[in-house]
Amino acid sequence: MRQVTWGRASKAGLTTSIGALFMVVSAPLWVHLDWIALEYFDASLTTTLRALMSKGPITFVQEYSPHPSYQAALGYTAWLALQSLLYSYLPGPKCLGQRTPGGHQLSYTTNGLTAWYITHIAFLAGALLGLLDPASIAKHWQGLLVAANAYGFALAVLAPLKGYWCPTYREDCKISGEQHPLLDVELNPRIGKHYDLKFFHNGRPGIVAWTLINFSWAAYQRERLGYVTNPMLLVIALQTLYVVDFFINENWYTRTIDISHDHFGFMLAWGDTTFLPTTYTLQAQYLARNPIHLTPLHTLAILATGLTAYAIFRSANHQRDHVRTHNGAARLWGRPATFIRASYSTSDWQVHHTILLTSGWWGVVRHANYFADLLLAAAMCATCGVTHVLPWTYFFFMGVLLWHRCGRDERRCRAKYGAFWAEYCEKVPWRLVPGVY
Ligand code: NDP
Repeated sequence: MRQVTWGRASKAGLTTSIGALFMVVSAPLWVHLDWIALEYFDASLTTTLRALMSKGPITFVQEYSPHPSYQAALGYTAWLALQSLLYSYLPGPKCLGQRTPGGHQLSYTTNGLTAWYITHIAFLAGALLGLLDPASIAKHWQGLLVAANAYGFALAVLAPLKGYWCPTYREDCKISGEQHPLLDVELNPRIGKHYDLKFFHNGRPGIVAWTLINFSWAAYQRERLGYVTNPMLLVIALQTLYVVDFFINENWYTRTIDISHDHFGFMLAWGDTTFLPTTYTLQAQYLARNPIHLTPLHTLAILATGLTAYAIFRSANHQRDHVRTHNGAARLWGRPATFIRASYSTSDWQVHHTILLTSGWWGVVRHANYFADLLLAAAMCATCGVTHVLPWTYFFFMGVLLWHRCGRDERRCRAKYGAFWAEYCEKVPWRLVPGVY
């Protein structure tokens, strides 16, 4: 077997290990600080940090850390079981993912949109028939946070161990256990032939929950105020658009970095099950307890920014997929698409051919989709006004995530495509904003 270098970890250096350890420690702390700030300190991070300093970490944790609850643990287990059943048994179109460094091309069943509809219709019907309290997720948030954390950490530990002992595709393991026993190991861990742990956890327990959690916080706000505020409706509209778009384009998602290139370790296991549903819903959580008023002009400006960002996001992502699927025979912005025909090899010695697009959004900058995503995140956060930093932490997180992703993706593309990538960078020199970065 030939050792390809793209999509693999090189020997982990001290900086990488410290960076990884920092993430494993700081991300859960961040999630908990946000919750404590919202629950006890009127969403003020400064007051929360002052309390931490004055009381000391041990008293602070004893006094403010979230408590588990039997009901929430049961609810969370039922939630995982339901999503797992929908994922396993709902019919849906089949599609092929990107070719892996080991030369595999995996098949996926994209039934996420049906799962999203069934889950949300059941939730709505339950609420209308009086069978469930729509604000119940918000009311049990504390216990749910503990349950999600416990599951996320267990998954983050078990997934690499599975990769170490019984990987599904050994030739696609990133590194051996001697380097990062607790970090990304398997690329596409599966149970049996079809139950894909990464595809399931990326989409279902986290992203299906995103909109459901938002609706529950809106119901909670309605219970407190007697109505749902415009900023809450606005953020829910923007985020529902993003989530439904994700499931409509689930086929495309199988060829993005998360599924094609990122290994299933802490970042994806804990991140998808705990960080995503808690941090991506911060705006709804904030607005439910700290309602604000937006002028019609502000509302319109946020909506216009959000929709413009979404249009760029969707069209950039669609252009890449469309031109590749049609092997270059496509038109973009009224002209035939231009591109570089690139080749790369996999560890089974096979040479493959692909396209690096140089027109449309991909001819303006190399990551227009990231720029658009960041702009959309800013619009979502702006629904909470500018008096508190807390709801904006989602925007800062997206900034760091996408900036870091730019760097590591480009390193991987350079290793995978060599001179073809250099030619692309020469033709399209800017990453995010022409003339700036
Ligand atoms: P991309 O969809 O941009 O995929 C990058 C890959 O595309 C590269 O690794 C390379 O892969 C290929 N590629 C690079 N340049 C070209 C080109 N010129 N022509 C054709 N193919 C090219 O990135 P992501 O998967 O990270 O993101 C997908 C979307 O998801 C983005 O819009 C992003 O903003 C969003 N996202 C959202 C997150 C969230 O939490 N909300 C998190 C992460 C992403 P190959 O090996 O196939 O050549």
